[in-house]
Amino acid sequence: MPYKSNITGLLLECIAQSEDGYGIFGGTDELLYGNSAFFNIFGFDDEQALGLTFDQMINHAYKHKRGVNLETDNIEAWLDKASLVRRQLNFRIFEVDLLDGRWLLLSEQLLDTGELLVHSKDITKQKLLESQMQLTMSQLQVLALTDELTQLANRRSFVKSVEAELSRFSRSADSVAMILLDLDFFKTINDTFGHQAGDEVLICVADILRQATRQYDIVGRLGGEEFAIFLGATELKAAIVIAQRIAALFSSTSVQYNGQLISVKGSMGITSCADNVTFEKLYNEADKALYLAKLKGRNRIEVFNHQED
Ligand code: GH3
Ligand code: MG
Ligand code: MG
Repeated sequence: MPYKSNITGLLLECIAQSEDGYGIFGGTDELLYGNSAFFNIFGFDDEQALGLTFDQMINHAYKHKRGVNLETDNIEAWLDKASLVRRQLNFRIFEVDLLDGRWLLLSEQLLDTGELLVHSKDITKQKLLESQMQLTMSQLQVLALTDELTQLANRRSFVKSVEAELSRFSRSADSVAMILLDLDFFKTINDTFGHQAGDEVLICVADILRQATRQYDIVGRLGGEEFAIFLGATELKAAIVIAQRIAALFSSTSVQYNGQLISVKGSMGITSCADNVTFEKLYNEADKALYLAKLKGRNRIEVFNHQED
C-alpha cells in the first residue's frame, strides 16, 4: 500500500480523481491548486489554469464558450458584479449551470490565511427532480382549483378569485355584480335520461356561461347544478343583459344525448353592490334573488331589491 505512510499523497490522489471539483485561489486570486473537475468549470482540460486569476479563468470560459454558463454579453460588467460578492463572506454557497446542461452547487470558504477554497458538486439530478416536482405541484394546483367535469373554477377557486378582485375594487367606486344560476328540475334530467346525460348538460351549461361572459368575468361551478358569475366594474343593467344572454342561449340550445334532445332551463338571481362589498354579501343577496326566481315559477331572472331588504 504505497499511500499507507503518506496520507497527504492519498488525499491528493482522491481529490485529483474526485468528480467533485476542488480549487484553491491564493490571496491575490491566482489559482494555486485545482483538480480536473474544477478546471472543467472554466473550460480547461488540464493544468493550464494554474497560476491564472479568477478573472482570467472566467474570460477563458467566456471566450471558448465552455464550462460555466455566463449569460452575458458584457463580461467586464459580469466580473465587476462578481467582484462585489467574491471574498466578502467567510462562507458562501450558490448554484451555477454549465453550458453542457449540468448544474453545480458551489461553495467558497475563505481561509484565515487569505486563500479561497472552492468546492463544486454536481446536482443535475436533484435539479431535474426539483423541476419535475415544481411541475407536478403546479399541475396539482390547477387540479385543486378546477372543476373536473366543466373545467370551470370550483367553489374554492371562485371564492378566492372573487375575494382577490373585491380587494382590488375596494379602492374604486365601481359597482360589482354577481349572478347565481341554479338549473331547474335537474334531478328530473338525471332520472329521465341518466346521470351521464346530466353530466353532458352541465358541460353544455359551462360552455354557454363561457360564451355569454366577458374575458375578465369570473365563472365558477359552486357545486351540483349551481353556477356563479362575478362581474367586476359592472352596473346592474349590464349584469341583467348578461343574464338575459344566458337565458336566450338556454332557450336556443338543447343537448343531444343518445339521439334525444334535452332542453336546459335555469333560474337566476342577480345583485349589484358598490359599497362595503364582501363575497358573503354578494352571494347572500344573489341567493335571495335566486330563491325568489324559483318561488315565482323557475326559468326566470330576479334581481335583489336593496330597498325591500
Ligand atoms: P330545482 O328546480 O328546485 O333546482 O330542482 P333540481 O332538481 O334542479 O334540484 P335538486 O337539488 O332537487 O337536484 C339537484 C340534482 O343534481 C341532484 C343531484 O343528483 C344532481 N347532481 C349534482 N351534481 C351532479 C353531477 O355532477 N352530475 C349529474 N349528472 N348530476 C348531479
Ligand atoms: Mg341546486
Ligand atoms: Mg336545481
